[in-house]
Amino acid sequence: MGDSSCIAAPSTNRLEGKVAIVTGGASGIGESTTHLFWKNGAKVVIADIQDELGQAISDKLGENVCYIHCDVSNEEEVINLVDTTVANFGHLDIMFNNAGIVDRPFGSILDSTKSDLERVLRVNVVGSFLGAKHAARVMVPQRRGCILFTASACASIAGMGTHSYALSKHEVVGLSKNLAAELGQYGVRVNCISPSGLVTGLSLSAGQGATPEQIEAGLHELGNLKGKILRVEDVAKAVLYLASDDAGYVSGHNLVLDGGFSIVNPTILKAVGLIQ
Ligand code: NAD
Repeated sequence: MGDSSCIAAPSTNRLEGKVAIVTGGASGIGESTTHLFWKNGAKVVIADIQDELGQAISDKLGENVCYIHCDVSNEEEVINLVDTTVANFGHLDIMFNNAGIVDRPFGSILDSTKSDLERVLRVNVVGSFLGAKHAARVMVPQRRGCILFTASACASIAGMGTHSYALSKHEVVGLSKNLAAELGQYGVRVNCISPSGLVTGLSLSAGQGATPEQIEAGLHELGNLKGKILRVEDVAKAVLYLASDDAGYVSGHNLVLDGGFSIVNPTILKAVGLIQ
């Protein structure tokens, strides 16, 4: 017989009493994370530029969720987001810097433009930086908090995205680690999550007209882990782990959610006949 005191009951309130901001919370990974945070007892502020979608989610979930229009690349709007959250809910425990864009489908550096690069960096990098800065402004005096970013598996393996997008996500991973180094002394944890490809508005816009089914079939074919397709709910569960006290001593980590894709070179396994 084992020690029954060691068996923890499954918890559905892993964020009870916490206040979270989810940028890009009106769709895709952010929307799914908003739902899961809310289910786990958090008060959630959705920050996005898609006002109708964001407001509709907030209306559906009720008083513990609200929507605030915020372009993450605009510092005044980020300041307003953080200050309004603290004014409404009293504090800020989790800042999930998730909003992101892609420039366009795959293409050569020869076809890449400076304006595309600047547009992607403005949202993915400047937006992450501003979100982290203004979250830290309130978390440091609290002596606790959790800052999270959505990076991408393309920061772990080359050739998975456009140059602008890959560059932006490498910068997000770097920023996350650098912040973990500074903010640990204040009890603030900083981590990022790096999913590989999954169907969302973002991947559909880069998918050159492919249907969700076609994208998922292609990703499954390419992937290392068979019999499973990465979905927004899987990413949300990993974000919940990092946001919760279950990850209380995890900081400076980049949680790559890619079924092992970025650590495997299948050409070798194919050459020796271990896989088909
Ligand atoms: P999505 O398009 O469904 O969600 C992105 C959200 O960000 C949208 O609601 C959009 O309105 C919002 N947004 C865009 N620009 C903004 C701005 N300036 N200010 C505020 N909000 C803004 O796509 P998603 O896949 O859920 O993207 C979420 C994150 O996941 C992004 O950072 C993306 O780079 C990352 N990611 C996606 C994939 C994938 O395959 N879908 C893989 C790895 C990482």
